[in-house]
Amino acid sequence: MSIMMLSPTAISSYLYCPRKLFLERILGLVKYPKDAMVKGTIKHGIFEDINNKEKEIISSIKEKLSQERLLNIYRKEYSVIARKKILFHKKELEKFNIDPLDFFIKFWKTLLDEAETRAKTIYEFIETNNIFGIELWEKITPKIISELRISDEELGVRGIIDELRDYGNQYVPVELKSGKSPEKGVWPGHKSQIALYMMVLKNQGKFVKEGIIKYIDEKKEVTIQLNTLLEDESKKQLLLVRNLLEEKKLPERVDSFNKCSACQLKEDCYNDKFIEDKLKEKKL
Ligand code: SF4
Repeated sequence: MSIMMLSPTAISSYLYCPRKLFLERILGLVKYPKDAMVKGTIKHGIFEDINNKEKEIISSIKEKLSQERLLNIYRKEYSVIARKKILFHKKELEKFNIDPLDFFIKFWKTLLDEAETRAKTIYEFIETNNIFGIELWEKITPKIISELRISDEELGVRGIIDELRDYGNQYVPVELKSGKSPEKGVWPGHKSQIALYMMVLKNQGKFVKEGIIKYIDEKKEVTIQLNTLLEDESKKQLLLVRNLLEEKKLPERVDSFNKCSACQLKEDCYNDKFIEDKLKEKKL
């Protein structure tokens, strides 16, 4: 019998609240799009596009340029990409009364930081190696691969890695997150997500010792080390999720006012009659 394939986001949902995962996956309750989700999708899309533009930008550098000049190149490209993406999603933003221009201005600070980091890396690399054009692109590290699809039959995991930083002899998966980070470290669901990505890459024979959660709104990157303890914990979580989805038994509500208040499914979840009908409908 083939193993049930799970996405790391299912583990993330489970860690937030097992009942939420059940409502979504077994009862098929729909998550209504919220403004935060629309904003998150646009920010993700912009990062994907700027990563995909990287080869073109770097291989177009044919001579030594000042750091300021390099920064201007990035600024110009990022501005075009961001405007294009925001315009594409204009109607969705307006549905939530979000002014596209205001959204652009607020997110621009994050993009500018990204542009500064990348311009500095290239400037320093050219200073040391004195190479340009396609050779510069080929030699510079890390290279960033966006939206990499992964699948692992042994672990029973499939998903999409937001960013994979390729250092030539080492790979670092990066998970982009919008919204707030906890005071210390990362949210448990985010940690388990990056752990699974690292484990899949490791199973593919790639050298991986750490992964990164990048909270894009806060310009904060947190590094998670892969070790046996984390791998064992992640395997246990996979087992728990698989059991929940196979047993199809409605879990209790989570005992957390904060989680329930922020949950998109709270109205349905606290409506016992509605849940009872749904269970009957699914013959559970
Ligand atoms: S409302 Fe609370 S108990 Fe219900 S699914 Fe959401 S987080 Fe879980």
